[in-house]
Amino acid sequence: MKRREFIALGAATLATGCAGVARRINHERSLAMYDVIIIGGSYAGLAAALQLVRARRRVLILDAGQRRNRFAAHSHGFLGQDGQPPGAIAAKGKAEVLAYPTVTWKDALAAEAVRTPDGFVVRAGGDEFRGKRPFSRPASSTSFPPFLA
Ligand SMILES: Cc1cc2nc3c(=O)[nH]c(=O)nc-3n(C[C@H](O)[C@H](O)[C@H](O)COP(=O)(O)OP(=O)(O)OC[C@H]3O[C@@H](n4cnc5c(N)ncnc54)[C@H](O)[C@@H]3O)c2cc1C
Repeated sequence: MKRREFIALGAATLATGCAGVARRINHERSLAMYDVIIIGGSYAGLAAALQLVRARRRVLILDAGQRRNRFAAHSHGFLGQDGQPPGAIAAKGKAEVLAYPTVTWKDALAAEAVRTPDGFVVRAGGDEFRGKRPFSRPASSTSFPPFLA
């Protein structure tokens, strides 16, 4: 290979690589930016969301619908809710949170998240979501993505 061909090949390879990186960055920038992405829309996630939306933060809640007490008929020891079906408590909390305009709910399992220079991107249900901060509670029996340590 002549020197000139070698340089041309190198430049073409570099340009292709740069274009890929640029495409990726542009794609990430085109996604809406949430202030907080909450992984898990049960009691803890909804309680956190309520405080955030009251402070006018843009919040995305991703929920896989596997609330751990979903098999229990009644809940006890929760002041004001004693004897209520746990699903009814969660549904009421969800309705209260979704009444605020800056919240978005998506039924999806968050499978992966990667850090970006300005926050992170979460992959869930075939889509990608961009956020400044993640929120999840440490869970023993549920499947939170490993990035949230
Ligand atoms: C049988 C049973 C009975 C109970 N009875 C009572 C009672 O009477 N009184 C009481 O105070 N407590 C009770 N508890 C405990 C109570 O259920 C828990 O304390 C409570 O559910 C914890 O709420 P949480 O929001 O932290 O998590 P969870 O309720 O477990 O919710 C976690 C949510 O996050 C979602 N999630 C997890 N991983 C992901 C992911 N990667 N992407 C998207 N979403 C995800 C799950 O699908 C789920 O919706 C009971 C528990 C059980 C199992």
